[in-house]
Amino acid sequence: MSTPDYAEMLRGAALRITRPRLAVLAAVEANPHADTESILTAVRVELPEVSHQAVYDSLHTLTAAGLVRRIQPAGSVARYESRVGDNHHHVACRSCGVVADVDCAVGEAPCLTASDAHGFAIVEAEVIYWGLCSTCASPAPASH
Ligand SMILES: [Zn+2]
Ligand SMILES: [Zn+2]
Repeated sequence: MSTPDYAEMLRGAALRITRPRLAVLAAVEANPHADTESILTAVRVELPEVSHQAVYDSLHTLTAAGLVRRIQPAGSVARYESRVGDNHHHVACRSCGVVADVDCAVGEAPCLTASDAHGFAIVEAEVIYWGLCSTCASPAPASH
């Protein structure tokens, strides 16, 4: 796995370049919407000796720097993705919890117009569409 631009991303965010951070960036990129445990597993393929704490800290640092986006659908653990800054939304399955990307409905933030902005200058709308994924929906018995 080549990671040339991950070092550049860290540099651009004024973050120190560390092996756990590089590996976490690569793991998040390769596993969109993965939870912390899945990312830890993926990182340990590259860095077998990395601690849970180092991965946890890296995720927090990268999220705070805006290099990684953290989403947490209701009832789900936190999930991470490398697709940041494009105001995309998510669709989540109520049954199995799988999450997929949905492009911004309008094409630019905040995408949804608030019915009452309460005087706020709204910059973003975080939307989660809920439903059943095709796998969970298909074996359901036909309803009459
Ligand atoms: Zn499902
Ligand atoms: Zn996403």
